Amino acid sequence: MSDQLASRLISLVVPFYNEGEGVEGFYHAILPVLDSVQDISFEVVCVDDGSRDDTLEKLVAIAGRDARFSVIELSRNFGKEAALTAGIDAASGDAVIPIDADLQDPPELIPAMIREWRQGADVVLARRVNRMSDSFLKRKSAELFYRFHNRLSDIQIPDNVGDFRLMDRSAVDALKRLPERQRFMKGLFAWIGFRTATVGYTRALRAVGKTKFSGYRLWNFALEGITSFSTAPLKVWTYFGGLGALAAFIYASFIVIRTVIYGIDIPGYASLLVVVLFLGSLQLISVGLLGEYIGRIYVESKQRPIYLVRRHHGKPLSGD
Ligand code: UDP
Ligand code: MG
Repeated sequence: MSDQLASRLISLVVPFYNEGEGVEGFYHAILPVLDSVQDISFEVVCVDDGSRDDTLEKLVAIAGRDARFSVIELSRNFGKEAALTAGIDAASGDAVIPIDADLQDPPELIPAMIREWRQGADVVLARRVNRMSDSFLKRKSAELFYRFHNRLSDIQIPDNVGDFRLMDRSAVDALKRLPERQRFMKGLFAWIGFRTATVGYTRALRAVGKTKFSGYRLWNFALEGITSFSTAPLKVWTYFGGLGALAAFIYASFIVIRTVIYGIDIPGYASLLVVVLFLGSLQLISVGLLGEYIGRIYVESKQRPIYLVRRHHGKPLSGD
């Protein structure tokens, strides 16, 4: 991978959604890193994901005074995953590093990632050694999610690893070949494979502003992850149904025999109702689950673009 002769280009891809207060802070935090690594030049692809505050103006101002920065303005808020995709599509570097705008991914880690890359890794993961900056509930639910997901799915998502990572051009091009509309980036990143190395860091508190991922959004995110990479929830109902049918058959034989021997008897009413309600609710759950998958098939079948660009600011980017 490493190439001592030519200077290499690395693209930082940064999604921004209502980060107005944080733009300058991000710029000043990232500057020293851009100058710190020998024989590497940087471009910073900022994606404005339909912010409603002054994020865009501030980004455009920075792109105006620093030629390494460019801005992709999306036509509305498409969500972080789509914003990342837009940035990665436009990035032209020999390696790409997606990084959050709120400085929760420490830019100081970038030189260490580049070192691993130069030693031959295609993907360098940044693993959080502790998540104390997240709330207890978020930590626990994340842990549970990863355990559940990795059980169900053939693709193992490494835990405590976010979108912050370095990807060699070969891995980026592989990623671009995954066409799905509903993009669970962590899963897609894991799916492509490649030779992977890891560096550790402690996740900081958000510099300014607050998180854009509420409880409900995180829940949807988890559903997305599981339904994108596993069909086990679809299949498990066959077994539940089989077990239920078997139990019902045994119970029915028992009742028939009892009726033959003792005659008709009303008190069976309660247990019957319990069985009917239980099976009914199982059916509703499984129908709901089918709905989750069919809804996703529906969205995929429309083949809509993952994001729409309103304008490029700063230097024209290759790719797209
Ligand atoms: N973000 C985005 N679009 C969205 C939500 C978030 O581009 O719809 C960006 C946000 O500006 C930040 C990154 O994604 O740079 C991570 O978001 P956040 O810090 O809110 O997530 P958390 O760190 O709490 O998981
Ligand atoms: Mg954050």
